[in-house]
Amino acid sequence: MQPFSGDPVNFSIIQTYRFQASEICPSFAGCLINLEFIMIHITFPDGNVREYEAGVTALDIARSISEGLARNVLTAKINGEVWDATRPINLDSNLELLTWNDPEGKATFWHSSAHLMAEALEALYPETKFGIGPPIDMGFYYDIDTGDRQITLEDLSLIEAKMKVLLEAKSEYQRREVSKKEAISYFNEKQDPYKLELLNDLKDGSITFYQQGNFVDLCRGPHLPDTSKIKAIKLTNVAGAYWRGDEKRKMMTRIYGITFPKQKDLTEYLEFVEEAKKRDHRKLGTELELFMFSERVGAGLPIWLPKGAALRSRMEEFLKNEQLKRGYAPVITPHIGKKELYVTSGHYEKYGKDSFQPINTPREGEEFLLKPMNCPHHCEIYSHKPHSYRDLPIRIAEFGTVYRYEQSGELHGLSRVRGFTQDDAHIFCTPDQLKDEFLGVLDLTKLVLNKLGFDNYTAQISLRDPENKEKYIGSDENWEKAEQAIIDATKDVGLETVVVLGEAAFYGPKLDFMVKDALGRSWQLGTIQVDYNLPERFELEYIGSDNASHRPVMIHRAPFGSMERFIGVLIEHTAGKFPLWLSPEQYAILPISDLYLDYAAIVQEELAALGLRGTIDSRTESIGRKIRDTELRKVPYMLIVGEKEQTTAQVSVRRQGEGDKGNMTVKEWADQILAEIK
Ligand SMILES: [Zn+2]
Ligand SMILES: [Zn+2]
Repeated sequence: MQPFSGDPVNFSIIQTYRFQASEICPSFAGCLINLEFIMIHITFPDGNVREYEAGVTALDIARSISEGLARNVLTAKINGEVWDATRPINLDSNLELLTWNDPEGKATFWHSSAHLMAEALEALYPETKFGIGPPIDMGFYYDIDTGDRQITLEDLSLIEAKMKVLLEAKSEYQRREVSKKEAISYFNEKQDPYKLELLNDLKDGSITFYQQGNFVDLCRGPHLPDTSKIKAIKLTNVAGAYWRGDEKRKMMTRIYGITFPKQKDLTEYLEFVEEAKKRDHRKLGTELELFMFSERVGAGLPIWLPKGAALRSRMEEFLKNEQLKRGYAPVITPHIGKKELYVTSGHYEKYGKDSFQPINTPREGEEFLLKPMNCPHHCEIYSHKPHSYRDLPIRIAEFGTVYRYEQSGELHGLSRVRGFTQDDAHIFCTPDQLKDEFLGVLDLTKLVLNKLGFDNYTAQISLRDPENKEKYIGSDENWEKAEQAIIDATKDVGLETVVVLGEAAFYGPKLDFMVKDALGRSWQLGTIQVDYNLPERFELEYIGSDNASHRPVMIHRAPFGSMERFIGVLIEHTAGKFPLWLSPEQYAILPISDLYLDYAAIVQEELAALGLRGTIDSRTESIGRKIRDTELRKVPYMLIVGEKEQTTAQVSVRRQGEGDKGNMTVKEWADQILAEIK
């Protein structure tokens, strides 16, 4: 079926002699006859082994199991490498069939859709020159050059329609190995400078073309078996993008799209996008006046407005109180440190070149860095006096602001910034105390997540690669102890976990909380990390019960992670309807007319005395208008006051999104709210 294979020597022999089993080739006699009957062993992920004739494809194998499976197979992993499901397998191999449920399956699906879009573009605009068309997190794009003809949003529906017409042909994606010479002459004839430039970097013997319908692309693949798998298409955006990301090169047109194997999936996706747009923290953050950015202050440096600052302070207060109860000692350290501090910690090596550059002082050779991490300062705090094992564990906590230079293209609202505050703490303990300390941190992190309204989370535990132990610093014994401590601690608190081997940092194992938001998106928030490296670099010590000196183990932990990022996620999770204890405005008093402004002020004073926050809408608007506006501001409670309320010392209560809750005295309402917050 395939014109060429990835293993040209073996395959061309099989191809030639497949149907000539009885023929004896004079030069290769025995070997060729054997080849015809070569059986290979295919090992499945569950360890099962089956025998197939050489030249079998992943799709054939799927079919031999069930037709249903074959229909779902998009691509396959052969010995760890993703291949076309239609590519012949000639040697014993490990095989994993990939479907829409696998990330590689989706990537192949979307990349193949980019080829389909290119086919449509070429059919509609024959002059189009093509750059690259990779899959992305959600969907795909293709960078193209259409010369003087600009593609705009209005053109997308036409391109989409053409793609749908092309789908009817159910074209196979055919892989073909070509020589560099042939490839160059093809694109020379086509006058496509971009493909020619890409070809420049490729080695002869490693070049493949893929063709579906009339469209031929230079591509290493893999691709879907054919276009019939693509059932729903949406082209989503047009943007400009520099060729090869270089601002000195040509500005190409980038067309984004997404496709699905079912129409229903596309409908759900579009609904999800709409909802995510409504909840975008950048939009809500502006509407609710929580934070802002200023070009004059600098991109990526969030500025907290009064309501946002109040919200954030409440979160910090909550955690500070919890930490005090749990034996953490708050400290405060400067925003900068001498360059040598970060050379000692190793952070200079990691962040120095690609981040903010040193601050020079009038003194020759003196250099300071904005701190990229709080840990080095805390190590200095640990070592400012000698410690005995009796002092441990020592828990040092600080809401420390750190600065890291992110590329401007990477900046995104509160999620990717250049300055952010970590709810940081470092625990210095003995190896034997690790498990208890982990339990304590897990308990605190769970409390934080639950208090903020996240109840759907799991943990990812990253351990060492057992095959590659020399990559890591610290003794074998300590690693084993720490890894076991983490696993045991998560079991003790009943936390659902995924263990990933080889994902640990070189200096220690870690645990990350993966939190699902209201839209089902996963976020990595909160982290706990064991560290054998910094105690070594800073030569931290304690005197053990044996009177000898030992290195403490260091734990870095931050339940919120970054306050900025966490609040960004919280805004999107709650759509701006924060838990009542956090709400910048827990209630708004809406007087029916100016006549009741004085009574409104009395109510507000009574509530303020009970620690409840709210405002009075004193505008001369109708009550209907006031209710609508307050709903939009997502204020949880409205307290309407008029003649009846004033004479009975009551308020008429409305709950945001729920409506009328009836009349009650101010005290009754306050008691209810205080109970809700608890
Ligand atoms: Zn491709
Ligand atoms: Zn740290």
